[in-house]
Order: sequence, then structure tokens, then C-alpha cells
Amino acid sequence: MRKTLYIIGLSTFVFSCTSQQNVKKNTYKPKTPVSQAKPAVKTSVAETQKPKITNDHGVEFFTTNLADPAKNDNTASYGSIVSAKPLGYKVVKTYFPSIAQNFRQRYLILHYTALPDDTSITVLTQQGVSAHYLVNNTGDNEIYQLVDENKRSYHAGVSAWRNDKNLNDTSIGIEIVNTGYKSDAAGKKIFAEFSDDQIKKVAALAKDIVIRYQIPATNVLAHSDIAPTRKQDPGPMFPWKKLYDQYQLGMWYDETAKQNFLTLAQADFSVRYVDPSFIYLVQTTLQKFGYYLDLSGKWDDATKKTIEAFQYHFRPQNYDGIMDAETWAILQALNQKYPAK
Ligand SMILES: [Zn+2]
Repeated sequence: MRKTLYIIGLSTFVFSCTSQQNVKKNTYKPKTPVSQAKPAVKTSVAETQKPKITNDHGVEFFTTNLADPAKNDNTASYGSIVSAKPLGYKVVKTYFPSIAQNFRQRYLILHYTALPDDTSITVLTQQGVSAHYLVNNTGDNEIYQLVDENKRSYHAGVSAWRNDKNLNDTSIGIEIVNTGYKSDAAGKKIFAEFSDDQIKKVAALAKDIVIRYQIPATNVLAHSDIAPTRKQDPGPMFPWKKLYDQYQLGMWYDETAKQNFLTLAQADFSVRYVDPSFIYLVQTTLQKFGYYLDLSGKWDDATKKTIEAFQYHFRPQNYDGIMDAETWAILQALNQKYPAK
């Protein structure tokens, strides 16, 4: 389907550039000749071959995808169109739409506020942090939008995933009202649960965003994934597996692959655990999967926090930050299923 739309978009583009009819109408004169331009031929290019624009609630959208799907993970161009309105001139959007475009919104990052409802709103609207959306815990059917999706909100901070950094530039952030964690007497973090109502809201919202921007599964992440040494949210109580199973959102491993890796890992895990070359391999594998960390060859604090962040997301039953055979098997199964490009 996307391919078809692309072909329509591309042919529209080519005809727009070569059609006599359009040249006359637009008096378009490139300053330098286009090297591969074909001689202008008479065609009966109907207006219907130009991309269509629709208007919904005062916002304009392309109705077809103009962009080249071979270029990027999320290449689409039917999002909202924000245009200049220069005094005395007319900006025309349909004559020369480029196929070389995609969305800036390439990540979806989930958070918890670590605050109750009323304070969450105050902090996210009146202070130096924000998110595009806030999912409350009041049991109603409302989701609050705090920032336009085309603008940056300040939710990610210093952050990285795979080849990208400073993800505020390229992400949509969703904050979920939740009180976060308290440490027990032994120092273990005990996290608060999310209500079913909240998870349904988050899933519906996330699904809408991921579909519109074609955000790949590898880019639907926790704040703790992109800032593992600083952040814990949305924590191990957030049901990533449920989102994957019931809403086809984000990443999850295949059980058979995990079991195969686990059989291999269990054979000599305690021996390998203390071997610096194994620690280095674990760090390299975490880095390959997406986490930003230094390859020290030691179980240092940053590595433990990164393992803990990985466990929050993919092995929430035990998030002690210690690499064990099961965590290692899951990490390998995920790397196999979602290889970095
Ligand atoms: Zn956060």
C-alpha cells in the first residue's frame, strides 16, 4: 500500500517538473539546469495527479504519502502541513512536493511522573520540564495534551539510543501519573502499580502516535532505556509485554529463542561471569542493542544500572542489576530479533 502511494507521489512529482502546463502556470524557472531533466513533453496531467490536501479542524494534511519509503524507517509525509504566509505572496504546496522528506518524530518515550495527579500537572506545565501528553490516574476518559506534537517537549534530557542522541529533538513523550518507587529496608526499590484504566489509555495513545509517524518497534522505549544511569521510569510495573501482546506495540523476545540461548548460557555461566572478556561481551551486546555505555570490561556502576534498566523493560520479575543467565539469554534473543541497521 505504501509503495503504491509512493509511486503515485513520485509520478506526480516528475510530471509536475516536466509538464508544460505546470511550467506555464507556475512560471517556474530553476536558476541552474536540472542535469537529468527530460525534455518537456505534452502530457494530459490532470489536476487529480497532484497530491491532495485535506483540512481537519483547521490543520492541513497531505492525504497521500509523497516520500521515499526506501530511505528511512519512518518515511511518510501525510502529517500536518505548517506553512509560511508571506505578505503579498502565495505559498503553493502541491506543485513541487519533494519525495525527500520524513517525520522528525522518530521515537516514543514513556515516563512516570513520580508525583500525584495535581502536582504532575503543575510541574509539567509551569516548570522547566514537560511532555507532549499526560495520562492521569483519575479514571475518566481524558488525556491531556501539554505540547504540540510538532514542537519539542522537555522530557528526555541527556539521552541516547543506538546512533541517536538528545532524543527530545526526535521524540514524542508521554508522562503517566504514578508515584514511582520507595526503597525498602534492604534498599530494594518497590514500585507503585499502574491502573488498568491508565494502561488502556497509554496503549490507545501510543498506538495512534506510532501508526501516524510509523515509529519502529525498536524506537518505542522507556526513559530508563535512553538514560539508564539517571532514570528508572516507567519502571518494572509498566506492562511492556502486555503492550506487545495485545496492542503490537514495542519490542518483546520470542520465548523459543530465549530458551535456546538460556540452555547455552546456563552451561558455564558462573565461570564466565568473572571473566573480563565476558563482561566486555555483555557491554558490547547491550550497546549493540541500543544502550549507551562505556566498554570498561568491569561490572561498574554504569553497567549495573544499564542492566537494571534492561531488566525493568524485559525481565521485570527481578531487577537487581546483576547479569544472570536469563537476562543474558533475553538480551541475545532481542538482539537477534531486532538487529541494529
Ligand atoms: Zn522520565
